[in-house]
Amino acid sequence: MSSIFEKIIARQIPADIVYEDDRALAFRDISPQAPKHILVIPKKVIPRLAAAQPEDEQLLGHLLLTAAKVARAEGVSESGFRIVANCGPDAGESVPHLHIHVLGGRQLAWPPG
Ligand code: AMP
Repeated sequence: MSSIFEKIIARQIPADIVYEDDRALAFRDISPQAPKHILVIPKKVIPRLAAAQPEDEQLLGHLLLTAAKVARAEGVSESGFRIVANCGPDAGESVPHLHIHVLGGRQLAWPPG
């Protein structure tokens, strides 16, 4: 069964897409935790960072550069932003398709909860 993010990639369910290329998609989180909250995902199905393989090295780099590009486009590159990739139950991962949260637009607390 395909995950909700695969359905977004396939345009089977709607999303507020802010960036797309041949390998990545970025869209606004449906439940934003900051004024800017965007998810950057690979089109390739990788459940989570712990499942990534050596052959995914370039793709993972591309996702990070995409996160930085999205942050610039959202106007938070200078003010600051945070990237988060929740991996597994203790981290609160809820969608089994690798995603990088890009959070910005407010002062973010540290350490995270
Ligand atoms: P995580 O809890 O790290 O696995 O993050 C999953 C994120 O996906 C959460 O922040 C959700 O709010 C978000 N999310 C779930 N369904 C959708 C959707 N249909 N469109 C946009 N974001 C979603």
